[in-house]
Amino acid sequence: MKFAIIGAGIGGLATALAFEKKGIDYQIFEATPQFREVGAGIWLAPNALQVLESLGILEEVKTKGNTIDRITLGKADLSPLSDTYQNTVKEKFGYTTVAIHRAALQHILFNKIPSNKIHLGKSFGSYAHTEDEKIKVVFEDKSEYETDYIIGADGIHSKVRKQLFPNSTTRYTGQTCWRGVATIDMPQEFHHRGIELWGDQVRFGVSKIADNKVYWFAVALDQPNQKDNAETIQQKLLNMFNGFHPIIKELIRATPTELILRNDIIDLKPMKTWYKENICLIGDAGHATTPNMGQGGAQAIEDAYYLSELIANNPDQNIFEKFLQKRQPKVNDIVNQSWSTGKMAHWKYGKSIRNFFLKNIPQRMVQKKMMEMYTIEKVI
Ligand SMILES: Cc1cc2nc3c(=O)[nH]c(=O)nc-3n(C[C@H](O)[C@H](O)[C@H](O)COP(=O)(O)OP(=O)(O)OC[C@H]3O[C@@H](n4cnc5c(N)ncnc54)[C@H](O)[C@@H]3O)c2cc1C
Repeated sequence: MKFAIIGAGIGGLATALAFEKKGIDYQIFEATPQFREVGAGIWLAPNALQVLESLGILEEVKTKGNTIDRITLGKADLSPLSDTYQNTVKEKFGYTTVAIHRAALQHILFNKIPSNKIHLGKSFGSYAHTEDEKIKVVFEDKSEYETDYIIGADGIHSKVRKQLFPNSTTRYTGQTCWRGVATIDMPQEFHHRGIELWGDQVRFGVSKIADNKVYWFAVALDQPNQKDNAETIQQKLLNMFNGFHPIIKELIRATPTELILRNDIIDLKPMKTWYKENICLIGDAGHATTPNMGQGGAQAIEDAYYLSELIANNPDQNIFEKFLQKRQPKVNDIVNQSWSTGKMAHWKYGKSIRNFFLKNIPQRMVQKKMMEMYTIEKVI
């Protein structure tokens, strides 16, 4: 059984490494000709960390990243609406969320995959079924590769998905997001905290990801597909977050403007299925979510775990159906909850009602939800 993984993002690389560990025959193809130090930070929740532990890379991830012990959702001035300490999470799983630079995570995964199995500069173009029940993958450079199965891990704008399910649709939230990594040393009290501050239809998130490196994101309502001017973006963000806690301005000022990224926040309308015959979608290609729960990457990593376990344990069965049944309820729940959280964060009708509601959510409910999300069921 030969697998072609299309896309070497977080999900594709984690799947390749999981396949490597299980002795599953695979090759992985990535459109980008070479890995560059791009991107900003990412939070890896304990469900992702459990998979990374099983892949033997947890310690490296912890060393290159920064542990978050406390997650604060607060008002613009940093007064908390909800403050969740991670002690119970640590007791149960042995660790709490790790914040890390995306490039560092990709490097760790990439370096564990044998170089003869990873092919850069190979942009997927299309696939065709052959007469002997195999699939021919055709790349943009016209080269071809024959395989038994395709795993589409090519992200939210997946070309594999567009051919497999042409009617699938992405949804724009009406929100756009700027991300950056500031070179700055924050006061000690912020070192192991993940913070998200909700203002008047704008919000700002912060966490340290390494020594003197702080990842931040800023979200506001806007029309889709807008562009920024590198000369004015800093001032625009400073104006947008005027009135927020003073550390926010310091972070914006300490970020090279040419490295500020902008993305519209979109997700994928949940689909009935992620597979057809011998082609299956994972990660954002199959179930992209908005980033409000910090779970898109974690879910792509969970996919790698379940897929590799199911293939290794039940090689003769309808693996993709089993995979769908195992994964879809949790993933759909996260997609829906994340969508609603984003809407609430930018609620137009009075932030005091929203804040009152948030402040009064019982901590034990927050903890219970968190524990459910972080739990990974073993595959039997
Ligand atoms: C602002 C923001 C913040 C986020 N924060 C978090 C967070 O804190 N925690 C978290 O868990 N998740 C977070 N996410 C979500 C997370 O980034 C994604 O869910 C995750 O990257 C999905 O991984 P993936 O491998 O499925 O897709 P991607 O990471 O998008 O990787 C897809 C790969 O496929 C390649 N590719 C594309 N087209 C082709 C082609 N035709 N042929 C070959 N290769 C191709 C791409 O180059 C890329 O390498 C965030 C997302 C956003 C937008």
